[in-house]
Parts: sequence; C-alpha cells; structure tokens
Amino acid sequence: MKNYFKSFFLYELLLGMKVTFLNMFKKKITLRYPEEKAPQSPRFRGLHALRRYPSGEERCIGCKLCEAVCPALAITIDTEERNDGTRRTTKYDIDLFKCIFCGFCEEACPVDAIVETRIFEYHFEERGDNILKKGDLLKIGDKYENEILMDQAAKSQRN
Ligand code: SF4
Ligand code: SF4
Repeated sequence: MKNYFKSFFLYELLLGMKVTFLNMFKKKITLRYPEEKAPQSPRFRGLHALRRYPSGEERCIGCKLCEAVCPALAITIDTEERNDGTRRTTKYDIDLFKCIFCGFCEEACPVDAIVETRIFEYHFEERGDNILKKGDLLKIGDKYENEILMDQAAKSQRN
C-alpha cells in the first residue's frame, strides 16, 4: 500500500524537484563559457612563447636544454653560430600534439626565453598547424610580453 501511495502521489518526482528547488538558491559553481572564464593562476601552462630582450634581440641562446629536458620529445632545435660568435637557433619547433604542457622547458631555460603563456583557446585548421615554428613563437612572445612579465613577477613574489 505504501508503495502504491508513493507512486500515486509522484513522491519520487517531488523528492527530485525538492533537490532542484533547494539548489536554485545556492551559489552557482558553473560558468557560462566562453562569455565567463574561470580565474587563472600566473603559473598557468598554456601555449608557448619565445621572448626577446627589450632591445629586440632574441633571448634564446640555442643551448638546447629545453629540447633535452622535454619528456615528450616535442621540441626540435637547430642552431648556428653568428659572425659575432653568439649562438642562435635557426629552427625552433614545438609539436603541440606531443607536448604535455609540463613546463619543464620553461624551468630548464637559463635565460627565460621559452615560457608558457595563459593562452589555452586555439585551434588548428591545416595539417601541420600543430607544429609551432620559431616565428610563431616569437610573435606570441612579442604580443604577450607584458602579461608574461606580470606573471613572472607574481610567481617570484609567491616563491
Ligand atoms: S611543456 Fe613539457 S612537454 Fe611541452 S614542450 Fe615543454 S617540456 Fe616538452
Ligand atoms: S629556449 Fe632556453 S633552454 Fe631552450 S635552447 Fe633557448 S636558451 Fe636554451
């Protein structure tokens, strides 16, 4: 009889609606992405960038430490010596299909040349777009240098 009355008065349905009703007045934990974005840490590890010094000179000295430390073998570097005796890269590729965004390359770099930015919204349209080339990485670095500087300052304050 008890089950019969429960079914007749839609007891379980009302129980479920009670949960819905109570949650209507609680603080929302979901976001309306992409209009609303979750806060990011300055340590966020998104798309990579290669940085320059304020003079415009590339920071990267082609030491290949980032290539050596990368656990996913995502970085490929070629270098050559310039006339002035300094070494610079002639090729710096990062395969984003291989990269696991561990941040080891950033940590290994002695001159803060390769960094990971806050960029996480990107897509590929053509085969091969997954490989970021040196020019692409420098462009990202140029565009986001101010944000990178602020994040680095925030990170050093927390250390
Ligand atoms: S973030 Fe990690 S996996 Fe990606 S390129 Fe750097 S070292 Fe390699
Ligand atoms: S990005 Fe940094 S670690 Fe990698 S080759 Fe250049 S200087 Fe060396």
